[in-house]
Amino acid sequence: MRKPLVAGNWKLNKTAAEAYSLVADMLPGLRNVHGVDVVLCPPFTALYAVSKLIKDHAIFLGGQNMFWEEKGAFTGEISARMLAEFCQYVILGHSERRQLFGESNEHVAQKMRAALSQNLIPILCVGETLEDNEAGRAAGVVSRQVHEALHLLDTQAIGNVIIAYEPVWAIGTGRAATSEGANTIIRNVIRPTVAGLAGETTAQNTRVLYGGSVDAGNARDFFIQPEIDGALVGGASLIARSFVSIVEAAAAAG
Ligand code: PEP
Repeated sequence: MRKPLVAGNWKLNKTAAEAYSLVADMLPGLRNVHGVDVVLCPPFTALYAVSKLIKDHAIFLGGQNMFWEEKGAFTGEISARMLAEFCQYVILGHSERRQLFGESNEHVAQKMRAALSQNLIPILCVGETLEDNEAGRAAGVVSRQVHEALHLLDTQAIGNVIIAYEPVWAIGTGRAATSEGANTIIRNVIRPTVAGLAGETTAQNTRVLYGGSVDAGNARDFFIQPEIDGALVGGASLIARSFVSIVEAAAAAG
């Protein structure tokens, strides 16, 4: 019922020329995979080049961040309207934005509303730090992040959101969460929090991804879990063969 989705978060990697060549390497493999939504999130400066390359392919583009204001004196920022020229999706609330750039749940909430107003689909990232995890606070932290990011939205808007459960300690560390552990957080914390705001049907229809050291070797373990609808992939999305394998694994588990 929930179509799998695999998104690649390239972070601060690849010039426009390098991005073009990476996507060109992915296309032959991606062309043969069906039943999975594939979203590439290169840096802003590569969006135009990649958009030209994928225009005849069933591949979507996403931004890695954006600002909530539409225009004005906000030097260095990108608006939802600007992103929407190229993108269908936008990653919001990534832990690197929260930790390195001071993004609060309230900032994320404003970005969510602005993204949806331009028909961008937000991929909302939530996840606990190692400290919170070890102190037994994972459920509380994740529930609060979901609630505070969604609380400005009405039920219909919440129905358009994708959530990525990304434990901070698993991102870029090579230490992925267990697939059962991620499945449990999604079933017991994320879906009930969405249900509390938008009802059980919306919660059951919301696509929830796992992110954190997903690679070609472990992707299947996550995709066969009943609550996990795909992956947000960082490092492995920069290697064409690895990313294609992850997408293939999502299609096979579909
Ligand atoms: C991410 O950046 O969202 C991520 C999950 O990174 P990695 O796959 O490298 O852990």
